[in-house]
Amino acid sequence: MAKIEESGSLKNIIAHSKEYGFIFPSSEIYDGLSATYDYGQYGVELKNNIKQYWWKAMVQMNENIVGIDAAIFMHPTTWKASGHVDAFNDPLIDNKDSKKRYRADNLIEDYVAKIEGKIKKEVDKAAKRFGDSFDEEQFLSTNPRVLQNQEKIDTINARFKKAMDEEDFADMKALIEELGIADPVSGSKNWTDVRQFNLMFSTELGSLAEGANKIYLRPETAQGIFVNYLNVQKTGRMRIPFGIAQIGKAFRNEIIARQFIFRMREFEQMEMQFFVKPGEELEWYEKWKQTRIKWHKALGLGEENYRFHDHLNLAHYANAACDIEFDFPMGFKELEGIHSRTDFDLKAHEEHSGKKLQFFDPVEEKSYVPYVVETSIGLDRMFLAILSSCYKEEKLEDGSERTVLQLPPALAPVKVAVLPLVNKDGLPEKAREIMDEVKLEFNAQFDAKDAIGKRYRRQDAIGTPYCVTIDHQTLEDNTVTIRERDSMAQSRVTVDELIKTLSDSVSMTKLLKQLS
Ligand code: ATP
Repeated sequence: MAKIEESGSLKNIIAHSKEYGFIFPSSEIYDGLSATYDYGQYGVELKNNIKQYWWKAMVQMNENIVGIDAAIFMHPTTWKASGHVDAFNDPLIDNKDSKKRYRADNLIEDYVAKIEGKIKKEVDKAAKRFGDSFDEEQFLSTNPRVLQNQEKIDTINARFKKAMDEEDFADMKALIEELGIADPVSGSKNWTDVRQFNLMFSTELGSLAEGANKIYLRPETAQGIFVNYLNVQKTGRMRIPFGIAQIGKAFRNEIIARQFIFRMREFEQMEMQFFVKPGEELEWYEKWKQTRIKWHKALGLGEENYRFHDHLNLAHYANAACDIEFDFPMGFKELEGIHSRTDFDLKAHEEHSGKKLQFFDPVEEKSYVPYVVETSIGLDRMFLAILSSCYKEEKLEDGSERTVLQLPPALAPVKVAVLPLVNKDGLPEKAREIMDEVKLEFNAQFDAKDAIGKRYRRQDAIGTPYCVTIDHQTLEDNTVTIRERDSMAQSRVTVDELIKTLSDSVSMTKLLKQLS
């Protein structure tokens, strides 16, 4: 039985991902390309399973949501209409001594997060001291140290919001200097001015001789949905409220792309735009917040790992927005965004295209531009959330150690490993027979090399929920041993029972049932 469990640091997770074929640095033989990664043989399986869980939960389980797969290249006017050409910028600041580049908004947010951390420490201390009689709300509204820190946060946030809204970069720099924010790497406070940086990658369509056009790699998948609103609404005979879902690549020339697959320049998004009647958007916004958090929690990665964070600086298109944050190895960070985008996008595309993008309401007998509630999650961030919370280093009772990925079984790259106890006496042949049967149902792996203990460890390291061992008794009574990954408990079942036992515990259906 396992004694000590430890979740991994980011460094250990990166090393494990590479060693076991989950994630490799891109074009590694040429020393890699910064912030670009390739998914290996197990990574692609896990990624596909996450996609499937999302797609089934959104499209298959909701009769009023359909999917599309739009092109990455879009007409350049799309990005003028969406505001990305003029406003998809990040405020950039350089440290003159360390020559490191930062996002000015992130420096301020990290400073505020530190003060929030101090408040949390006070609360934890008081909760311990007062025990059951502790009233957190009262403590937060009366403790002088907490109040002082909260006031500090409010003052910083108000000034920060004003500077962002008014694009007052001089004041953003002044705020960084007044707060004494130092370069987290070098400790230097010698900053350049703050300036804007557009995050879209561009390229040319057609040859120069034809008069090439500048086009962009899409920075979000959402616009592919908006420009297809009418196509889908008409051909699918969709009635409001309805949604369009899409999974696909997005590209952003991020100023700083660090922290492994958390922030990449090429990544994948799973987005759903839900079209609603104007005035009903905030109700749907609340509903989607609850639906999405339920989807996350059903995975069993630990409820304490999630929290909502309301946006302070609403994007130009939103009238309400929040993030679902996850407790990554580097702390709570955005995993998914839920945004009430109003009619901003459809209206802007109407104006720029000259086409009507409306819905005719047969009850009210009038047309309107629908409002939109969006759920947008980064597939790679979801991958990291799963990997980091499932990675465990365990010390076993016999003194040995193992690294195990306690992945939700439905998401595991390999569902079952088929292992002949020894590579002779007819056991490999019997194991092959079983393998041929299970591989029709699940992604299975056959492994006859090395001692059985070593083979178990290899499967633990890639998160395989079940190992099936074929031994001499199997030849006599057609029973096998099933070993469960987390408890390491073993039981004997007949080969006929095997498939049913496996189906019951590794199926996506089991996960989806928790959502209904
Ligand atoms: P951040 O503030 O972290 O830059 P964002 O608010 O710009 O993120 P959105 O535009 O809301 O992100 O994108 C929706 C989702 O796409 C995010 O919640 C995140 O999971 C994912 N995402 C955004 N940028 C990246 C990136 N560079 N690498 C990986 N995933 C990303």
